[in-house]
Amino acid sequence: MNSVLILNVGSSSVKYSILSENEVLFDGVIERIKDKKGYQGAVKKIFGVVKKNKINVSAIGHRVVHGGLLKKSKGIDEKLISYLKKIKELAPLHQIPEIHVIESCRKLFPKTKQIAVFDTAFHETMPEKAFLYGIPYKYYIKDKIRRYGFHGISHKCVSESAAKIMKNKHAKIISCHLGNGCSITAIKDGKSIDTSMGFTPLEGPIMGTRSGSIDPSIIPYLVEKEKLSIKEIKSLLNHKSGLLGISGVSNDFRDLLKARRKNKRAKLALDVFYYQLSKYIGSYIAALNGVDAIVFTAGIGENSAVLRTKVLENFKFIGVDLEEKKNRNNETVISSKKSKVKIFVIKTDEMKVIYEEMRKVLGK
Ligand code: ADP
Repeated sequence: MNSVLILNVGSSSVKYSILSENEVLFDGVIERIKDKKGYQGAVKKIFGVVKKNKINVSAIGHRVVHGGLLKKSKGIDEKLISYLKKIKELAPLHQIPEIHVIESCRKLFPKTKQIAVFDTAFHETMPEKAFLYGIPYKYYIKDKIRRYGFHGISHKCVSESAAKIMKNKHAKIISCHLGNGCSITAIKDGKSIDTSMGFTPLEGPIMGTRSGSIDPSIIPYLVEKEKLSIKEIKSLLNHKSGLLGISGVSNDFRDLLKARRKNKRAKLALDVFYYQLSKYIGSYIAALNGVDAIVFTAGIGENSAVLRTKVLENFKFIGVDLEEKKNRNNETVISSKKSKVKIFVIKTDEMKVIYEEMRKVLGK
């Protein structure tokens, strides 16, 4: 492959990397994007970088959050774009901007092959018992309502690194991606067997602004009692809940750490967060029938020794033992020699996984 361009579209940003033979030539991020025009402008800016530096881009890779039932990375064509449009409401914050970016790239780089790498694909190995919801089966058949799971590129990246360090392809691993969005995945033999995000990226533990799992009856109750519309409910659950909703202070983990000694609700939000994370990890230890390693990644997971200590406190009973100094320094292995479970802190490298996936699709 000559140089490739990799794009990672967020709900208000576009991150890009231009790689040649595994080496990053250029990278950057365009932030505070508000609308379709903004995303088109971002692609134009990146196109400008490519032109100015006379780079021959042989392929463009896109991280696509929701691949629906697609199991593998794929070359992008009209058919795929119309499928992505059909399912865009399942992850609107990301999927709609991604479609704008893909379409802009097709205009600006008309001859360049484009490849979609899905955040859902890694979870395609989940068994039916893990992905089915307890609603009438016909809605699974007719409307494809099931657990899909997200952050798959990241879970794959860090769990593979952990397995490599342990020299054990069959390890039972629980990986915790804790950023603004949070998800936890149970992995066995390198495959996802269960994950906390579901039909959409709203399920699981509480997140920055997302509610995570709640009793579904709360929704009709709010509609009837508070006269909220569906649009208002969606906004409440996606943007006003989670750490922000409980604390009333911030969605940002660092802000809450700072505020926790003076502000009771900031402390409460953190306690709920730690508690729910522990519960997910505990349930996945049961699902995996044991655990060899727990991995922490993304903004909070990679940087917060306090969070890791709090969450792992509940697993002393199965022999989890942290080496506090290593934990404080965010070292790769933070468990002690006597710990029965290895604890890792691994920086997620989604670009690397996308690059490898592109090579597979291009047969290189
Ligand atoms: P995104 O999901 O948007 O990619 P990130 O993975 O960057 O998000 O994670 C953002 C979260 O990470 C924020 O809550 C932020 O407070 C937290 N974070 C970033 N750096 C640190 C740090 N040094 N210590 C604790 N938390 C951090």
